[in-house]
Amino acid sequence: MRSRLLQRNLRIDPPLALTGQGMLIHDSNGKAVIDGSGGAAVACLGHGHPRVLEAMRAQMDRLSYAHTALYSCEPAEQLADMVLEGEPGGLTHLYLCSSGSEGVEAALKLARQYFVEIGQPNRRNFIARRQSYHGNTLGALAAGGNMMRRAIYQPILSDAFHHVSACYAYRDRRDDESDAQYVARLAAELEAQFQSLGPDTVAAFIAEPVVGATLGCVAALPGYFQAVRAICDRHGALLILDEVMSGMGRTGTMHAWEQEGVPPDIQVVAKGLGGGYQPIGGIMIGAKIIDALRDGSGGFMHGHTYQAHPIASAAALAVQQVIREEGLLENVRAMGALLEQRLVERLGNHRHVGDIRGRGLFWCAEFVADRASKAVFDPALKLNERIKREAYERGLACYPMAGTIDGKRGDHVILSPPYIARPADIEAIVARFGDAVDAAIAGLPPSG
Ligand code: PMP
Repeated sequence: MRSRLLQRNLRIDPPLALTGQGMLIHDSNGKAVIDGSGGAAVACLGHGHPRVLEAMRAQMDRLSYAHTALYSCEPAEQLADMVLEGEPGGLTHLYLCSSGSEGVEAALKLARQYFVEIGQPNRRNFIARRQSYHGNTLGALAAGGNMMRRAIYQPILSDAFHHVSACYAYRDRRDDESDAQYVARLAAELEAQFQSLGPDTVAAFIAEPVVGATLGCVAALPGYFQAVRAICDRHGALLILDEVMSGMGRTGTMHAWEQEGVPPDIQVVAKGLGGGYQPIGGIMIGAKIIDALRDGSGGFMHGHTYQAHPIASAAALAVQQVIREEGLLENVRAMGALLEQRLVERLGNHRHVGDIRGRGLFWCAEFVADRASKAVFDPALKLNERIKREAYERGLACYPMAGTIDGKRGDHVILSPPYIARPADIEAIVARFGDAVDAAIAGLPPSG
């Protein structure tokens, strides 16, 4: 063991990523690996994009840092103008921070402050969904519903967070239920949660439009978010959509909620905002919240040393320019359709693939020991980690997830390639992934 970095696994030193170019990462094992997941659905322009590097260099030469107590800066202002162009869904302002978790914290605190400003200080509760992920800081972890991630920290998490079921049709829609009946059942559960807390104590409902890091690319059924929005509106609560993973083009539209037709009051963004070139996240905010702050205490009672950082903002601005100018959303949709087709061809009939699902360039395979019963593999086998290792051996990086299924660890693997992917990249990704799945399953002990 050589590394002195405290990372997820202290027992294995990971290889060093040395250089990145386009879809490829070259590492200290001498391998050139296709970044089939863009890290954790982050590297939307791939690696080493010349325009982003140039924008960062130019900004470094001009200004590296200035504190927001005194100054704003040009790239952050330009980034806000670009992201908010046309005021999508009535969102008019942007707060910039350094990560998805920070964005979620800001969204939660802003929702709370909004209600204090408008004279409803009783609103202290938040409703979120089980099997969700909103980040690893304490507030975001309390909002998240992944019980395995929460377990150790449960005693120090806020009790202001309450959880209802996610919209997860593959497992949770009953056989005798139509989609509409299932959505109605979920809406009734949410309504009941409001009632049991007292509707005037709820500040916001928070959800991922497409669940990412817990279940893997689970979009809600049609009508679900309309029903959620109607319940929030009826009770005067805010809707916060966490698009940290699913936003900024990943699902084929700039915002995932566009495909639901339901804009939020506050939207959290991060990964696709800066594409990994710099740590950056943010929240987009609706006008009524801004008005309340302006008319009330005058500003957001929150902030961080590195908020609206000039170099991070310059990087994100360049990423957003490239997405728009190079028509990459169109490519996400076209390559996403190809990725779906090839995944279904290669793994759709596989006896251990229960579900293949996703949108845009955001796809997941869920693995099961038995397709009929949907039973999960023995969690101790860590099948998803085995698939990751086999994929790496074949020159592919993919992103393994372990959502909780009936209290047990499930096996999901995400493929979320950069938006710049070409057909040959998609073919190579699916070929290597399919072989990795076969090899990982063949390598399981006989009882598995
Ligand atoms: N929300 C969602 C939906 C996420 O997927 C993530 C990260 N996977 C986060 C929040 C937290 O973001 P970060 O890791 O940048 O803090």
